[in-house]
Amino acid sequence: MSDFDERDHDEDKEELEKTDGQDKETDLGNTSSEDKKEGEYEDVCFICRRPESKTGKMFKLPNNITVCNDCMHKTMDTVSQFDYQGMLNNPAFMDDLNKNMRGKGYPQIRFVNIADLQGEGGIPNKQRVKKKKAKASEEPVLDIRNIPPPHKIKAQLDDYVIGQEHAKKVISVAVYNHYKRVATGTMDDIEIEKSNMLMIGPTGCGKTYLVKTLAKLLDVPLAIADATSLTEAGYIGDDIESVISKLLAAAGNDAEKAERGIVFIDEIDKIARKKNTTSRDVSGESVQQGMLRLLEGADVEVPVGANSKNAMVPLTTINTRNILFICGGAFPDLDEIIKQRLKKQTSIGFNAELKDKFDKEKNILSKVTVEDLKKFGMIPEFLGRLPVIYTLAALDKPMLVKILKEPKNAILKQYQKLLELDEVKLEFDEGALEAIAEKAMKKDTGARALRAIIEDFMLDIMYEIPKDDNIGRVVITREYIEGTGGPVIDIRSVSGENPDHLKVIEDKAQD
Ligand code: ADP
Repeated sequence: MSDFDERDHDEDKEELEKTDGQDKETDLGNTSSEDKKEGEYEDVCFICRRPESKTGKMFKLPNNITVCNDCMHKTMDTVSQFDYQGMLNNPAFMDDLNKNMRGKGYPQIRFVNIADLQGEGGIPNKQRVKKKKAKASEEPVLDIRNIPPPHKIKAQLDDYVIGQEHAKKVISVAVYNHYKRVATGTMDDIEIEKSNMLMIGPTGCGKTYLVKTLAKLLDVPLAIADATSLTEAGYIGDDIESVISKLLAAAGNDAEKAERGIVFIDEIDKIARKKNTTSRDVSGESVQQGMLRLLEGADVEVPVGANSKNAMVPLTTINTRNILFICGGAFPDLDEIIKQRLKKQTSIGFNAELKDKFDKEKNILSKVTVEDLKKFGMIPEFLGRLPVIYTLAALDKPMLVKILKEPKNAILKQYQKLLELDEVKLEFDEGALEAIAEKAMKKDTGARALRAIIEDFMLDIMYEIPKDDNIGRVVITREYIEGTGGPVIDIRSVSGENPDHLKVIEDKAQD
């Protein structure tokens, strides 16, 4: 605390005397006469006693305590440099501290979650909140003419996301409708329903990627949260409203921007109602219950620049009415539930012999209904707030090959660009692409496996090639991927034997 005592107050002395008087009046409490005079007085810093006109905007803490920017920073610096862990572990020190503090007019200080405050950029930037505009001048934030129509949204998605035609179409229409609704407010008496979505598809098929691409194209903030980490408020884990703080952070603490952002909640199937449980289901059904309010539209108080509420962090209110919620999950075993339902239907009447036809059907997930999801463990109220439900297909070999080479930022293009800077042409023959896709299929993690596989064998190439300026072209072959041969290497001017050190790549591949 010595830091505070040392601060240079000379220039403020006059001000202090004046404000001390005022302070006494404000300290009297919330009397109505004081309320009337409110306009005449300004807040005084609890620590250095300077008025707001001198210090600039103050932090408002509970119990009508205001602290100026400077003092807040000094406090934070002191606290963060302090070996608080050691201090807390030392009972003798804590006793002393409490004795010294008692009766000296110090406020009751609650311990802050330091980790929250030390995030990237430090406290000062994160605590900056852009002021909301006054209600009176409320204008539509989005111009309806600027929202791209569904076919344009889809065309842009096509540049990045391979396949998933149905999903891209549904998401384009839903997003277009959503932002039309945001842009116009309510249309006369007909309130347009929010188009929150539920995406069902196996892991690595592009659910997150689709949403990320969409948010980038629309230039709206996006928060991605994992439903597995969410728990009912008060239990260990992130409480449900923390997804809104993430969105606020993604919007650069601009509340207005956050209010028309997108929240993507992944692994939503993990909050299905737990079967056969007698204990309180704090991370399953309760989370679904807790999310109802957010999905529909509610005012949520969120901390600015931190992910948990505590005494030292300012709060701001975010209305979730215009936030688009997209939930995604793999829903394992949902196909069994669908099959059972379909079988039941066909076991009645003439079609009974077709019972096993569904076992072979590949795209069984696309036949999902709300009933199946209820059976899976999602509560009806939750599903009711996600009116747009669609599925993504598992990626097959041709799709994986396309993902390797076709998207605007395809992995192969990235490596080609890197080697281009060394004036080396990198090529992959068709066999190599298929071999990579086959390896990825075995891993069962969709397109996510592709990068890992490529990185693995490109390491030697990226290491050896820059050694020799004569190399003009490298062709990756199926043999190289499968470890039975090496890449084809063309020397820029003279053709002939591969230089000795390049044999290393071949040898390693064959190991
Ligand atoms: P999940 O469905 O599990 O959310 P992701 O969207 O995170 O999977 O996919 C992982 C990665 O795989 C993405 O970053 C992306 O590069 C790639 N990917 C997946 N699906 C596609 C696709 N359909 N088109 C292009 N890339 C894809």
